[in-house]
Amino acid sequence: MKKRMITTDILEDDKRTEASLRPQSLDQYIGQEKIKENLKIYIQAAKERNDALDHVLLYGPPGLGKTTLAGIIANEMGVNLKITSGPAIEKPGEMAAILNNLQEGDLLFVDEIHRLNRQVEEVLYPAMEDFSIDIVIGKGAAARSIRLNLPKFTLVGATTRAGMLTAPLRDRFGVIHHLEFYNVEELVTIVERSAEVLGVEIDQEGAYELARRSRGTPRLANRLLKRVRDFAQIKYNGKITKEAAIYALDLLEVDQYGLDMTDRQILSTMIEKFGGKPVGLDTLAAAIGEDSGTIEEVYEPYLIKNGFLNRTPRGRMVTELAYRHLGFDFMIQDS
Ligand code: ADP
Repeated sequence: MKKRMITTDILEDDKRTEASLRPQSLDQYIGQEKIKENLKIYIQAAKERNDALDHVLLYGPPGLGKTTLAGIIANEMGVNLKITSGPAIEKPGEMAAILNNLQEGDLLFVDEIHRLNRQVEEVLYPAMEDFSIDIVIGKGAAARSIRLNLPKFTLVGATTRAGMLTAPLRDRFGVIHHLEFYNVEELVTIVERSAEVLGVEIDQEGAYELARRSRGTPRLANRLLKRVRDFAQIKYNGKITKEAAIYALDLLEVDQYGLDMTDRQILSTMIEKFGGKPVGLDTLAAAIGEDSGTIEEVYEPYLIKNGFLNRTPRGRMVTELAYRHLGFDFMIQDS
């Protein structure tokens, strides 16, 4: 994958500041009001019953706050947080060991849960449902299976692609929430809070400019803030004003809709190479040299949400807005 400013993957630079910028409580967590409202009730009810919280599945594009929310749930419940991810666990025994080491009430966060392999996933079924695992001891004819009881725990799974979860796994989550892109006002609040944590001076217009170019994604808002801070420091006496933000973001080639080079390349390829006619995902991916899963998970949701792209039964199609935004003449497509 190409390295891009607007990538929603976690970069090295993010890791250094991510811990300090991550909200620690539901009250600090901006936006996603419906999710917060529900979680507050579930958390309070579980605490009153002195019980573990039901298993929670969070899905939505990267950088919207799934990991953050898992940490907050653990904080609010007053339990330990253990973090792992789908691709990190290769064998059923590894999953069994992780589960067996949990303590009563612990929260196990499994990022990219759709990438667990089938055998590993099957260990989770009885664990999630009955808080037990079956382990086989011995070999050949002497092999027998014994059932181990686990402490009551909460599994929080995160995925960018809920559609890729198997039905048996999905059905074992009591709570399923879809994280939405953030609106500009919410991102302004996030940018202002992060600027305060980082000790950067920013005015309201500067924060607004950053917010509206952040693709609805807090991780990007924080990353752009840090880059713009550098420009402000060198060229604008350290203060992020609207002018400083526009100057820096233009240099970083993030446009007023938050689209970057690759977004624009996707749209212009669809217009120039495919004449605005429907294009299959794989064909499009090959044409721009990007992975089709990345297009589907990272780029496309934002382009669709903002009306640049549509999914049709015959493939992806660019919209009139995309033509106009990129400065092409729009012609009705009769494919
Ligand atoms: P995901 O797990 O969905 O990829 P993260 O939870 O790692 O996303 O969020 C990325 C960063 O964005 C966090 O470190 C945090 O600083 C910021 N962030 C995410 N959600 C929020 C929110 N609701 N309010 C404030 N900051 C947020």
